[in-house]
Amino acid sequence: MSQPLSIYIHVPFCLTKCTYCAFNTYTKLEHLVEPFVGALIREIEVVGLSKPGQTVHTIFFGGGTPSLLKPDQVERILAALTHHFDITPDAEITLEANPNDLNRPYLADLRRVGINRLSIGVQSTHENELKLFARRHDNDQVAGAVSAARLAGFDNLNLDLIYGAPHQTLSSWEWTLRHVLSLKPDHLSLYALGLEEGTPMQDWVAKGRLSAPDDDLTADMYELATDLLATEGFEQYEISNWTMPGHACRHNLQYWRNEPYIGLGPGAHGYAGGYRYWTILSPQKYIQLMQEADLHGYEYPRTPATDEAVLVDRPNEISETLIMGLRLLENGIEWRSFQERFGEDLRDIHGPVIDRFVGYHLLETDANGVRLTRQGRLLSNVIFRELV
Ligand code: SF4
Repeated sequence: MSQPLSIYIHVPFCLTKCTYCAFNTYTKLEHLVEPFVGALIREIEVVGLSKPGQTVHTIFFGGGTPSLLKPDQVERILAALTHHFDITPDAEITLEANPNDLNRPYLADLRRVGINRLSIGVQSTHENELKLFARRHDNDQVAGAVSAARLAGFDNLNLDLIYGAPHQTLSSWEWTLRHVLSLKPDHLSLYALGLEEGTPMQDWVAKGRLSAPDDDLTADMYELATDLLATEGFEQYEISNWTMPGHACRHNLQYWRNEPYIGLGPGAHGYAGGYRYWTILSPQKYIQLMQEADLHGYEYPRTPATDEAVLVDRPNEISETLIMGLRLLENGIEWRSFQERFGEDLRDIHGPVIDRFVGYHLLETDANGVRLTRQGRLLSNVIFRELV
């Protein structure tokens, strides 16, 4: 059997744009959601027809705001995937959601059509931070969404948070963490705020209207989270991700292990058939291309919406495997897995670099492999730069 695949579906619509967000997502295009679903189903058919019957073990609806999809639209997308792929019975099927889109009837319908994991964009529990981010939910809606999700039968629940924001303090961050812990999530993703080109937040900082995030304070927030979540029973299995036992995100593990995934929808990225590829950004163009396309005759994993596809050669595959694999804190890169995949001992390729960072206490090695130390997690980019 070939390696099981993951499928990422990009839903490029949001009702409002957050001030820090540089994702490929658009407001005021809600009228295009239904044509998008039709186009997406055609894209699924193109990939499915070009290489039918492949095993898929995770599906991820990301965005944008996938919780703008109606349950029947999610159901039709999953039906198309089931028709063309061999979806494993225990497949992890995640939908990213905005807290104020979630109520019990909607969540019960999502559960009924097959969504079994929710990832809720909480970001902060402070109203002033939510306002700075221009999020469209308030703190009360988070607790309501989590409780509705539990009542609807979701037993695999992630909450996303942002730290390192302007004006955020160590104590406000601790309060946010303690508040979300009281909601008993199964998984937490904590992201340091990045000032992305072209976002309002980046513009405000550039013009001096907002203070820039403080790197030292951001590192202290990360350390605080690492200590606090460990005392609450969470395992930190990736640089930015913490899980209660048995709830690690299988979809994201596919990325970190540098294993194949198909990306569908405008602006999605994929890695399959030896190619890294991405689709065109514009939802309008995507819909038009897929509506006009012949479904047959495309070479997997390309579709009429593919913008570019780049063959990943061996040196690049090795670099990508190391950089993504080192994000995994417990296993890191295992000597044996690397040898099986590339037919070479990692120490023969990167022994001096590994030894140097072991000397700086940023990497550690043992009989199983190499991984980041706690100090190395904060300086991982320095190590990654040496591995490309
Ligand atoms: S909801 Fe998410 S995708 Fe949409 S603008 Fe906000 S951060 Fe970006």
